[in-house]
Amino acid sequence: MNAKDINQSYDLLMLAQGDTNLKAAGHYFIGACPFCGGTDRFNLTQKADGWRWLCRNCTDTKYKSPIDYVMRRDGLNFKQALEILGGIYSTPAPAPHAKFPKPEAPSIVLPDSTWQAQHWHEVTQACEALTTNKSARAYLELRSLNPSTWNMYLLGFVMVFDPKTQIKRAAISIPWYDSDETITAIKYRFIDDLAKDKSYRYTMAKGSKQILFGMHITSGNEMLILTEGEFNAASITQITAHESLNIDAFSFGSETATHADILRTVANDYQRVIVWADNPDHANAIRLSLNRSADALCSPEIDGVKYDANTLLQKGYLARFLQETIKGSGSPIK
Ligand SMILES: [Zn+2]
Repeated sequence: MNAKDINQSYDLLMLAQGDTNLKAAGHYFIGACPFCGGTDRFNLTQKADGWRWLCRNCTDTKYKSPIDYVMRRDGLNFKQALEILGGIYSTPAPAPHAKFPKPEAPSIVLPDSTWQAQHWHEVTQACEALTTNKSARAYLELRSLNPSTWNMYLLGFVMVFDPKTQIKRAAISIPWYDSDETITAIKYRFIDDLAKDKSYRYTMAKGSKQILFGMHITSGNEMLILTEGEFNAASITQITAHESLNIDAFSFGSETATHADILRTVANDYQRVIVWADNPDHANAIRLSLNRSADALCSPEIDGVKYDANTLLQKGYLARFLQETIKGSGSPIK
């Protein structure tokens, strides 16, 4: 995808909701600016060519693109932001190990204790609702995730308000937490008919901060796999527990820009790191952002279908695939 495609299709609403509280007002979403604060100066709207934003205080009056947003938020240049969002930079690439500029100091403030208490309460209720909701259980079973994995990740069932469609919809709730006490985000994966359309699959709890998914399950293994998508990380964890493989798996989310500085810090605790994404350029961009030796792995393609970790799990191939990856260097792209 080129920059135009990314700016057209990228779900900036979902990303920005993690950075600030936005209220729907007609065709706009209004809230505090994630960069300069205030209460209602940030403005997000969906135009014919995708999501656009501006701030009445810290930008000029022209609407900005999703790439502009990620450049500013994560202190990236245009090329880095484009690649992090899954795009391909089309002029000749610079030296492969070009040093990234020093990022701005991490500006992540965790949700406050009131937010956390409220959302723990919600997670507890959602877990309970999952025990009796047939369609939610069927959805997770179809994805070959076991009840023990649901429990480990505290997956639940909720009817949640979707700001995009302005209705309440059935969803699997996927909490992100750093430790048993600190919950940083809740992502919702809708499971109704509307979710057949890719752009109506996810939303997040207001005030969520996506840091890294699955960090509470670290076993201090030698090898780390960083993947797209929460269910991919859960699939790897499920298999590694079963097969006694020494792998920790975290997810940097899906279609969501990553805090490169945090990935870098976490990756440094491991002897071997693999970045796994569907798109080889995306995997490679994240690999380079780690500033250390790491392999990039893209999902194998069989008969035109991309096999991510969860698809491999469903087909019964994931254990073998991981064993091969540990033995060799998988199918790294350099
Ligand atoms: Zn601002």
